[in-house]
Amino acid sequence: MSDADTRADTATADPAGPERPETEVCPGCGAVLVAAPGPVTSSPGASPSCTSLFEVTVRGLREDAAQDLRTAALLQLAGDAYAAQHPVAGEPAAAAVRLCLWLERSTDPLRAGELAGRVADAAPRLATRPVRWTTTVADLAADLDVVDLPALVPSWADAVWADWGAAHPAVRAAADVAMAGSAAGR
Ligand SMILES: [Zn+2]
Repeated sequence: MSDADTRADTATADPAGPERPETEVCPGCGAVLVAAPGPVTSSPGASPSCTSLFEVTVRGLREDAAQDLRTAALLQLAGDAYAAQHPVAGEPAAAAVRLCLWLERSTDPLRAGELAGRVADAAPRLATRPVRWTTTVADLAADLDVVDLPALVPSWADAVWADWGAAHPAVRAAADVAMAGSAAGR
């Protein structure tokens, strides 16, 4: 027996030490992110780190939305894209209906509050959800260095809506019901 044999035996210790940064997979969009430090309130259907990244990404929009209607509309679109990408099982797909209204029916996102009740009434409970997403908040945050939010948010929203493709007929029907109720209510 040599010393080398003894050393070989001791080299089999677990290489994964406690120093590894803890990551978590977002249950909504699937983004793998370093776990957010400290207590973070997460959106329903999202990991705390994903919610936190979204909030950081749209912070500038939130600060300007009160003074600028176009920024407010962009913030509404961003919030609905995020919510549509983080559906809660068993809940009505209201965010997907709102995306349909803003993107396909040319409805002003600033009418979200006024339409909230009708959208909630019309929103379908969908049995399936997209299994993969073209663009996540992690992609959005990574692109922010070179493209600004007024360009990024609409293309992200378009991608989220396209990913919902299998549910488009049900969501479009609900959007039309919501707008019909809107017209009749005047
Ligand atoms: Zn997420």
